[in-house]
Amino acid sequence: MNLEIEIDQRSGFCGGVIRAIGRAENYLQDNPGCTLSSLGAIVHNEEELSRLSHKGLKTIKSLSETDGGPVLIRAHGEPPSTYKLAEEKGIEIIDCTCPVVLQLQQRIREAYADVTPRGGKIIIFGRIGHAEVLGLVGQTGGDAIVVETVEMLKKFIDDGQINTSAPVALFSQTTGSPETFAEICQVLRGIMKDESLINVHNTICLQVSSRHAQLADFAASHDVIIFVSGKYSSNGSVLFQLCKSVNPRTYRVSSESEIDPSWLRDGDRIGVCGATSTPKWLLEKIACVLGGFKTVS
Ligand code: SF4
Repeated sequence: MNLEIEIDQRSGFCGGVIRAIGRAENYLQDNPGCTLSSLGAIVHNEEELSRLSHKGLKTIKSLSETDGGPVLIRAHGEPPSTYKLAEEKGIEIIDCTCPVVLQLQQRIREAYADVTPRGGKIIIFGRIGHAEVLGLVGQTGGDAIVVETVEMLKKFIDDGQINTSAPVALFSQTTGSPETFAEICQVLRGIMKDESLINVHNTICLQVSSRHAQLADFAASHDVIIFVSGKYSSNGSVLFQLCKSVNPRTYRVSSESEIDPSWLRDGDRIGVCGATSTPKWLLEKIACVLGGFKTVS
């Protein structure tokens, strides 16, 4: 089979994930024989997690699972309650919250202090239950409203949970879809009594937003797209849907074993790309496996 394979050079870990993984690896290298606990998966990619677990990084779901050693807070960040609990339990924290997320948390705290006395609300566009979003909502003591879609926003307004005569501050999860965020802004502007009541903070990370247009071009310029990302990656789901919308022959895999040769046709130009949580080495491995199909007649 004659195939052309290209890896998207801009796919791969974002700066926040590179930094967190680097700090975990440095700790494990400097403390041979020790394990390090990450509160939640350091990256939403099963293959990378398996690589790091062989070096001594283990994932815990809560601080009660610690073995007495330090706990790493991943790039997504945590709510203030986590730091408080760690202090009470005497747990050492290695804080790898992405600086961009830290800044977003601070902006939310400030906006909350501003709008709350005036009966207003903080609205966060993001995935309910996502770690970064939990950390953001925690900055408001759990008071912020999280919306995933325009429909959810409308429902909160219909239910009276958002007062259209009081100020609202709208933020986004750093890995949110720029297109959906723009739709939410537009709907909010149409519903609020006065546009001056709305304060929009476009807090989608530049590393994510700049990738959307580039990735759409990459997907459109290939016959087949193999999109590589972990099953639980929020950014992976958003970018996969983006690729699929411009190229129906887009397939999502988390490892090379999930590639189905029936997806490929002789003469195809194949693009391999991934999310901000997909390691470069995995993209290269997938491209290499695809290269093996060239020899299949
Ligand atoms: S997507 Fe951006 S803000 Fe989020 S962790 Fe990565 S670099 Fe930080």
